[in-house]
Parts: sequence; structure tokens; C-alpha cells
Amino acid sequence: MSLIVQKFGGTSVGDVDRIKAVAKRIACSKDAGHDLVIVVSAMGHTTDELTSLAQSISMNPAQREMDMLLSTGEQVSIALLAMALNELGVPAVSMTGSQVGIVTESAHGRARILEIRTDRLQSLIQEGQVVVVAGFQGTSLSSFGTAEITTLGRGGSDTTAVALAAALEADSCEIYTDVSGVLTTDPRKVKDARLMDEVSCDEMLELASLGAEVLHPRAVEIARNYGVEIMVGSSSSNEKGTKLTSSSKRSLGREGLELGRPVDGVELLENQAVIALSHLPDRPGIAAHLFEVLSKGNVNVDLIIQSTHEGNSNDIAFTISESDLTKAKSLINDILISIGGKISSDTGMSKLSISGAGIMGRPGIAASLFDTISRAGINLRLIATSEVKVSCVIDAKYGSKALREVSETFELNDSQIFLNPIQTVNSDSPEVRGLALDCDQSQLSVKHVPDSPGTAASLCLAMADAGISLDAIVQSERQHNDGSRDISFILKREDRRKADLALAPLLAQWAGTNLEEGMPIVKVSAVGAGMRVRAGTAAKMFRALADCEINIAMIATSEIRISCVIPEQYADKALQAVHNGFNLGLV
Ligand code: ASP
Ligand code: MG
Repeated sequence: MSLIVQKFGGTSVGDVDRIKAVAKRIACSKDAGHDLVIVVSAMGHTTDELTSLAQSISMNPAQREMDMLLSTGEQVSIALLAMALNELGVPAVSMTGSQVGIVTESAHGRARILEIRTDRLQSLIQEGQVVVVAGFQGTSLSSFGTAEITTLGRGGSDTTAVALAAALEADSCEIYTDVSGVLTTDPRKVKDARLMDEVSCDEMLELASLGAEVLHPRAVEIARNYGVEIMVGSSSSNEKGTKLTSSSKRSLGREGLELGRPVDGVELLENQAVIALSHLPDRPGIAAHLFEVLSKGNVNVDLIIQSTHEGNSNDIAFTISESDLTKAKSLINDILISIGGKISSDTGMSKLSISGAGIMGRPGIAASLFDTISRAGINLRLIATSEVKVSCVIDAKYGSKALREVSETFELNDSQIFLNPIQTVNSDSPEVRGLALDCDQSQLSVKHVPDSPGTAASLCLAMADAGISLDAIVQSERQHNDGSRDISFILKREDRRKADLALAPLLAQWAGTNLEEGMPIVKVSAVGAGMRVRAGTAAKMFRALADCEINIAMIATSEIRISCVIPEQYADKALQAVHNGFNLGLV
């Protein structure tokens, strides 16, 4: 007999008939002998309706009162579902967040879960009851020590379900929604998008904009950290959905279920070389050609960075293993003869990376990594950022020093520090699992920043202090005549104005720097754990774009993600082309 947590979203319990259908489904699982904890959202659009009701009374209601109001939505659906189960002869009891002991921070409207006191739940389960829990809510202590109702933020019922599964050490967590699972990309844009059978939590987090519509990212973070296996599927069919896997398994610590340290590992990869190409022609197909030739020569490229254009030429830098350097250089030299451009290379480099769920969504983390490294007097040669990993390439002679300082900053213990880890990837893990399209991003460059340790760090710290999450940070390869460089960022469009304010004091300090807004862009990302061990994945993506004559403005890769920034007007075309390029469509 196993313990299963099942969650049903708002659409799945949208009306009486659907509630009855859900109850039948639950009754079947109960008949099959499972112990069940059920989490439900508010019926249909209840939460939106309650929100507008509040707005018709006050444009600025107290957050405490909003939580009081919004939490009623889920209270309706749990009671009705428990009644429907009782009608079917299934013993069931409904419980609010506070009744089941979901203890949260006191931040109303966006509280994170600290702990779940499972005693009451456990004894009800023992009695054979199906416990129907209100999603999206919890309880905190006010400053007077009295209990307060809190909510977890929109879409928070997923978080409730996965947190319950972690706290109860449930055998599985099933999330039922109105879609069939996680698709290879947005089906509204790509008609032949296909259901993924399986995806890892890391991949899902990297596919943020794609995944977030199916499962709340905070829920995925909990699943990743505590090793909860999730099944996401449709509540109205019996077809298998998508399985979310996680390899790590932390135990519930004392730090708070959702507050555990975001960084849970640091690694140093030695014997790396950086190849920097500059003054390449700025036209579609150049990147594709370069990386195709490298891939045919069996050179596995790790990080690739292409910065914004300077005039009408491009710079691309990438890292490879030192042992491939001679081969790579001769392959590239042959190409440069025909297309023009300059090459330089550095050997004796190391890549230092920190990992953890949702790193880039927490603005302070990348900043404090860069800050730690620059305080140690170490220059950042390249930077690569992603949702679950931030890497920087540094001079190898500072490797162990950097490793030491970084593990201290993030309070990591010996078991979380890895030197030259061997890349192991499931053999059936595809090079690309799915594609995400981010349309709410904009590109910002700081021109002429001094080339000295600490500039990237101070830029990132300034942004972090203003609460701005950066999505990619790219330092230009090319130096201006005065030795200065450019640093470009991708950030949310809505944060664009905040960034002006945040950066102003820094720009005032550095003579000659200025801020430049790039053209309207979108970001297409290909994600897959298998790309780590295969040569040529990036080349395929660049080729797919080049074949549709789409020019790439910026490239930023990370271990399991390749992102290309392209002009906004090509968004849909690019997504379809890359989807075809990796044969992700229906067969
Ligand atoms: N009812 C809440 C919302 O609409 C929580 C949820 O459905 O996950 O955001
Ligand atoms: Mg939802």
C-alpha cells in the first residue's frame, strides 16, 4: 500500500459535475488500496473573482485581509469535495492549511512554507480517512504570537501538494490539471508539440517559461530538493502524463522547508581552454558553420557566449577541454581564412560553478558568487548563468582559492564540493528535451565598463539590491581602445526602469560608461541534460535558425541549456524551426 498526494487544479473542480468526477477518480485510487491526501484549488476562477471583489472596495487592501478573503476559495472546494467523497461511501475529511499544520513565514500574499506538522494528518490517514487539504494557504504567527491565515502566492496549490508529499515522504505526488502534461514547447505556437514522457526537475526549471504554466516553479524546486517524484497529467483522462524526476534527496532540515539554502553544490572543472573569436561577420549562418565544423571534428564545446554586436561584426567565445585545443584551433583557422575574423585562446583555465534550484530567480546569489571571486582578486574570464547553475571561467591558478572562498560564502560542506566531477548522464536522456520562448525580456548593455575584478560583481549587486533578476549576463570579448569592455544583461521588461535607477550610481562612478538598450528581442532556449555529453547540440540549434535566415544577436549557454536571443519578429518562426531541427515534433 502506498501513500499518494493528489492535487486537482481549479478547472478540475470548476463545477459540481467536475467535483463529482474528481471524487469518483479518488474513490478508484482508494479502492486500489492507496492512502490518499488530496489537495485542491479554488473552483474555477474563484481567486480572480475574489480579487476583483476586493478591488471594487479598495484599491489598496491590507494584505492580511486579502489572505483572509482569498483563502475562502479553497475552503469551499475542500468541503464540497469531502461531501462528494462521503456520498460515494469514501471516508473523507476536509482540512484548512492551519488545521493540517502548514506553518509559513508571516509574509502575507507570498508566504513560504517553513514546516508541516504532520501528526494530525498521519493519524487521520491511519484511520483510513481521505484527507482533503486546502491548497495555497497556511498559518503563521503574528508579532503578537497569534495565528494568522497566510497564502503562498498565486498558483500556490502546487506548492502545497509537493510540500505535503515531501513532509509525509509520500510514495508519489500526482498533479492533475487541464492539460495532458508538459509538452516539448508551447502548442499554441508549434502545432506538432508533443507530450514529454519524462523530464528532470532541473530541466523543468530551465524551461521556466514553458514549465511554469503547467506546474508552479516553487513546487518544482521543492521536488528537486527533496527528491519528490511528480506525475503531471490531465484530470479528465486516464492517459499517462509527464513524470518529473529528481536525483537529489535532501532531508528536511531545520532551516525551513522552502527556505533551505538555495545553493547546494560547488564544482571546479580544470584543464579548460577558452577560444575567443572576434570581428566575425554579423550574418546568419556563421555560428552554425563554426560549431558544425567543431562537432564534426568531435570537439565537445561547453559554454558558448556571443555578445551583442559592435558595429557590424560579432564576437564569440567558448570553452573546450584543453586537450582539444590544438585540433579546435586548426579547424577554426581554416574557417577564418574564408570568412575573416581574429582568434585568440587561453589555456590553463578552470570553470567554477554553483548549483541549486532557482538560483537566477534569487537575484542575490549570482551577485554574491561574483563578489566572492572578485574580492579574492580573481578576474572573471567568462560568465554563464542559468536557473540551476551559475558558472564562471577563471585562471586555473586561483582554482582552489576560489573553491574555498565560494564554499565558505555559501556555507557548503565537504560532501557538496566537487573537483573535476565525472559527467554522468542517463543514456536515454535526450540532448534536447524541450524548448522555451521568453517574450517578456529585454536586452540592456553597459558600455565601456572598466576591465578589472569586481565590475561584473558590482553591477550584479546593484541589480540584486533592487530586486532585479538577471537572466543572462554576457561580457564582451572585445576591448575598447581604452581597455574597457561592455557587459550585457537580459532582464524582464518590467524591470527595465528599475534597472536605470539601480545602475545610475555606478555609471556615475565610471567615467565614459553609458547604458544602451538593445532592439526588441525574444529568447529561445533549448534544454536537455543529454547535451552535456554530446558534441554538436549547439550547432544544430544555430543551423536551424540560420536556415530561416534568422540572425542571432546573443548566445548564452549553460550546462543543459542553450539560449539564443533573436529579433522579436522571428519568435514563432524560430521556435518552430528549432523544434523541427531537434525532431521534437509528433512522428
Ligand atoms: N487558487 C489559487 C490561485 O488561483 C491557488 C491555485 O490555484 O494554485 O492562484
Ligand atoms: Mg495552477
